[in-house]
Amino acid sequence: MRKLIVAIDGPVGSGKSTVARRVAELLGYTYLDSGAMYRAVALKAMRRGIPLDDAMRMDQLAKETRIDLVPTNSESSGAKAPGQESNAYAGAEAQTPYGTRVLLDGADVTAEIRTPGASQSASKIAVLAGVRRHLVAEQRRAGAAGGVVMEGRDIGTVVFPDADLKIYLDASVEVRAQRRLQEHMARGETISLEKMMEEVRQRDQRDKEREASPLVRAADALLVDNTAMDVEETARLIVMLAGEKQGSGASG
Ligand code: C5P
Repeated sequence: MRKLIVAIDGPVGSGKSTVARRVAELLGYTYLDSGAMYRAVALKAMRRGIPLDDAMRMDQLAKETRIDLVPTNSESSGAKAPGQESNAYAGAEAQTPYGTRVLLDGADVTAEIRTPGASQSASKIAVLAGVRRHLVAEQRRAGAAGGVVMEGRDIGTVVFPDADLKIYLDASVEVRAQRRLQEHMARGETISLEKMMEEVRQRDQRDKEREASPLVRAADALLVDNTAMDVEETARLIVMLAGEKQGSGASG
């Protein structure tokens, strides 16, 4: 069976990570989280005190940074904690053996890149064309062989414009903020819904209005609005669409 490249793009809280993980699991593909790369570079910049809008220094930093996304899709690596819901969008990292450990220059930063500060910083450095150029090259290398589900903001438009299947996931701002809130609460962080909605709006705005690879739906991406769909429904819909692509033998 031909191994496809599945591109899943969408705004924060649209369920990309959780859904992409589940799709990869169902298809037996590798899951690749491109956002983790932006987060890792942002974390390194914060640690070094590099201003996030200093394009030249950030370009250099991205160039000399090594990021490894290590799939944790083995049977042993993802035991579910008792009582964990398996079909919620929140707390995906802990719920499925299909995930990624993120190594920044060899050191595990999987948890550290998920703080609200790292989220905001990642979206700030993601506006820089130089940073994007380095990370996009890495993403292409990682997915070139196919058999991957890659999620982000520009996967179907820039990273893999010829992806076999392109999905644009979306949901209402309220529902997306709720999902993010639950993720933070699951990690013991307290943040109000109002603040979360504000953060989601800010990140939406930065992602959609930036000049370099703004978040847009590719003309040939299928829009899946999962405001009222759970993870399993969304994932199975995408798997069905992947099956159709394989059946048709089409590459676009
Ligand atoms: O998906 P995630 O929220 O982890 O991504 C963190 C930030 O990285 C996003 O807010 C977005 O600004 C940026 N990003 C991007 N292009 C991607 C993936 C993420 O600009 N392909």
